[in-house]
Amino acid sequence: MTGDSGSDTGVRMTDGGHGARAGVRAGIVATGSELLTGRIADRNGPWVAERLGELGVEVSHLLLVGDRGEDMAAALRFLDGDGVDLIVTTGGLGPTADDLTAEVVADATGRPLELDEHMEKVVGDIIAKFADRLRWDADALAAANRKQAMVPRGATPISPAGTAPGLAVPPDPERGGPTILVLPGPPREVGAMWEDALASGPVREVLARTAPYDETHLRLFGVPESEIAATLREVGEHTDLAPLEITTCLRDFALEVDLRHAPGSADAVVARDAVITEIDRRHGRAVFSRAGQTIDELLFDLLDGQVVATAESCTGGLLAGRLTAPAGASAHVAGGVVSYSNDAKADVLGVPRELIEAHGAVSPQVAEAMADGALTRFGATVAVSVTGVAGPGGGTEAKPVGYVCFCVRTADGRTLARDPVLPGARGDIRERSVVLAMHLIRRVLTGDGEPGPV
Ligand code: ATP
Repeated sequence: MTGDSGSDTGVRMTDGGHGARAGVRAGIVATGSELLTGRIADRNGPWVAERLGELGVEVSHLLLVGDRGEDMAAALRFLDGDGVDLIVTTGGLGPTADDLTAEVVADATGRPLELDEHMEKVVGDIIAKFADRLRWDADALAAANRKQAMVPRGATPISPAGTAPGLAVPPDPERGGPTILVLPGPPREVGAMWEDALASGPVREVLARTAPYDETHLRLFGVPESEIAATLREVGEHTDLAPLEITTCLRDFALEVDLRHAPGSADAVVARDAVITEIDRRHGRAVFSRAGQTIDELLFDLLDGQVVATAESCTGGLLAGRLTAPAGASAHVAGGVVSYSNDAKADVLGVPRELIEAHGAVSPQVAEAMADGALTRFGATVAVSVTGVAGPGGGTEAKPVGYVCFCVRTADGRTLARDPVLPGARGDIRERSVVLAMHLIRRVLTGDGEPGPV
């Protein structure tokens, strides 16, 4: 890349540096000064990284830079120097003077900016729809349109999902270098434009060089990361795990174990099978997905044909919120009660007051009666209840902070109850309770009842 000054930066790649290697490496540059002040968290980088990973692209760096031209140019030079084949940028494509990405990328790839008349019209038509209503100044609008329709020579514009078109910019015509995919900042627009971006000529050309890895995505619940680490260590004592890339990550209280290897590697297949066999042998009951599904996705499918109802105390409706988050949840969610007070438990769910007095509001007995109440009041086929001490106050020796009682009950008489003491502060206990309740529903619906790790 030549940088702003047009001088040699000393980090040029030879043509052989890009693409001669098997596989494709990429860098991501999320731009926006608000990302650096900490005012907003970057949502584009991780999303793009995940999508690229699915395509078999190895992401080497994810950089956050402010809205300063020289900082962006420096990020591009750095990635070029690192020899990546593809750079994906997000942000800085708008109509204002601090939206500099197209200019910087044009400069970096040695491609002068030219007006794309078709894009000028596309952007103009989009803006015209609301400009009249907002009485925007026509001249200022025309200038803004034109700025957003400036395309580096030889690049492919990508139709906007908002008002800013994206750009798929091929390598520098003289000396090669990375292909650069330029996307706008708003995460919704990045997602909406992604498929078109992949279909653009320059990006297709780079991705044609990927050899997607074979991947296995195990998801476990109720096993600490340290136990999986110990299992992997022991497998490694008799099997060479080097050809296998293993990543473990704790997300949403579930342990994600991802196994990746280059296609066609017999050694890697032996290693992968040894790992899976041993995880199954030791922690098989905890494995809830072998295809990387989240508990939300899994439960959505399992609840097909069911009518589910919730009775929540310490989670305050978070469980109902989570169950109703996916589009189409109305097909199986009947409703839920946030019965925070004892009166609500008694009056709304029909929990006998003497039961609360005898055992306390946080007790397996009350949890069971709450599930019964939800089952009958909503005419559900499966009901789940949560009542616990979320803290920080209110704990006792017998029922410390984190003590939470769960009960899942089905209309045909199956019950699964748990009363663990969950770790963490108030927020963690509430969130963990939601996830645990979802796993208990899953276990009842899959017939995977007692005993188990949750
Ligand atoms: P537009 O002009 O259409 O908004 P743009 O490419 O100029 O497009 P930016 O100005 O960089 O976009 O960002 C617009 C808004 O999008 C930001 O104010 C921020 O709210 C959101 N946004 C941008 N980048 C990110 C990011 N990496 N993660 C999360 N949100 C982002």
